[in-house]
Amino acid sequence: MTIDTAARPKTTLDRMWAIEKSKAEPGLWRIETRVPTAGPRDVRIRVTAFAICGTDLHIVDWDRWAASRIKPPLVFGHEFTGIVDSVGAEVTSVAPGDRVTGETHVYCGLCYACRRGLQHLCQQLEILGVDRQGAFADYVVLPEQNVWKLHPSIPEEIAAVHDPLGNAVHTALAGPVAGLRFAVFGCGPIGCFAVGVLKASGAAWVAAVDKNPIRLKLAERMGADLTVNVETDPVVKRILEGTHGRGVDGMLEMSGHPGAFRDGFEVLANGGRVSLLGIPSKPLEIDIAKEVIFRGATVQGINGRLIFDTWYRMESLLLSGKLDVRPVLTHVMGWSDFEEAVGLQRSGKAGKIVLKRDHP
Ligand SMILES: [Zn+2]
Ligand SMILES: [Zn+2]
Repeated sequence: MTIDTAARPKTTLDRMWAIEKSKAEPGLWRIETRVPTAGPRDVRIRVTAFAICGTDLHIVDWDRWAASRIKPPLVFGHEFTGIVDSVGAEVTSVAPGDRVTGETHVYCGLCYACRRGLQHLCQQLEILGVDRQGAFADYVVLPEQNVWKLHPSIPEEIAAVHDPLGNAVHTALAGPVAGLRFAVFGCGPIGCFAVGVLKASGAAWVAAVDKNPIRLKLAERMGADLTVNVETDPVVKRILEGTHGRGVDGMLEMSGHPGAFRDGFEVLANGGRVSLLGIPSKPLEIDIAKEVIFRGATVQGINGRLIFDTWYRMESLLLSGKLDVRPVLTHVMGWSDFEEAVGLQRSGKAGKIVLKRDHP
């Protein structure tokens, strides 16, 4: 698709550029819309870079999930970074000019889950760019309690992917890691990030499994000790060989693929941990007696990021120099390349694509 940059509206004080799901049908729309206003406890952020996520592709394609969840018109997008533009009267922790990104799960702070410290599982949860106006725009508004101030040494590209990197940190560190062996199923950006987080956190050995050779290469660059292509390699055999017959202590499921659940349990050592982040498209059958009970497995669902435990760990890992996520950030493009970036993301030939602001 070609883009008529001349037709793009100039951003003025109260009008802005945005990418919207305007109608309940496949596609995306470039629109001019009102700049959102910040309430007394809100922060308005001038977006400088964003990244496209699998969730955004579902929204563009208008699949079953999107049709059941999204209420057009909606500016979508949730992986972003920017600079604070203005703050509400009651905001005290950030000020205009601060470099920020944000926790995209907007939580109420008052429900049963929130009051038990499980804000990421809030019963009134609103996800940025899914349930409320998102970040593929000149400006985005977030409650102050969701804003994350960036350390000055975190570069813009990495700031833009804190949301998926946080998913990886949450999943990888949801149980003991040091000195243990792992298998990561699914080497999309989050799977590749997870390989790096495990290695930076002292994992003894990490296998990465996918069907896409480009993604397996990225996992290797993130430190995977073994990469296994499900299309050409016997997954269970290779992982058992790599662990001297013991199997892995932890299985991270990042693909949602039924085969990964089957192979993942089969390579799991007795007493191992199974952390599930990938979303299967339909219900799966698992032999609970064999795979979970008699194996003594701990099976956990992972959703979002711990607010803000995951964020502090993510920052510490990045600042330590032990976690370098740049191999996964395969493309940096401009906002005017949005459609091209969507196609590239869909092709499986890219890791994470970061799009930087390329208009005033
Ligand atoms: Zn995302
Ligand atoms: Zn809540």
